[in-house]
Amino acid sequence: MNSSDLTLHIINNIGLDSIEGEYVVFTKGTKNFAILPNFMLHELLTKNSKDSYTRLHIPVLVELQLIRDAWGSGIRVTSSYRSPDYNKSINGATASEHAKGRALDIQPINGKIGNFKSMVKSVKKSGGRGYYKSFVHIDTGRTRTWQG
Ligand SMILES: [Zn+2]
Repeated sequence: MNSSDLTLHIINNIGLDSIEGEYVVFTKGTKNFAILPNFMLHELLTKNSKDSYTRLHIPVLVELQLIRDAWGSGIRVTSSYRSPDYNKSINGATASEHAKGRALDIQPINGKIGNFKSMVKSVKKSGGRGYYKSFVHIDTGRTRTWQG
């Protein structure tokens, strides 16, 4: 599926109650289903153990699937939405794109992080890209790259 097909797939399947503008909002009580060809909704929940409210920018979800397509193997989401309080509690950057629901931290399930970083570099040309030891941060904020 291309970007517009993926966007429509998300909007049509999650239901209008879970759409807020360009964002999807859900909790662990929201029915789990394949929001993307290779990702179940609950894989994208916040990692906050105290509150499962999650708000994610639809374009970053589309990017996640396009990266999964290019990688051709399993990807784990290690961080997604962070409420402002939760972001503070884990010493996340202030004004983190995670707190805006525009960022995901992702890693290859097969552990081949070097190859994974090279693939992300070739596929994602805009927004934020942070390359860390064991994961890659992607976001739909302003275009920039950094090494974690
Ligand atoms: Zn991140």
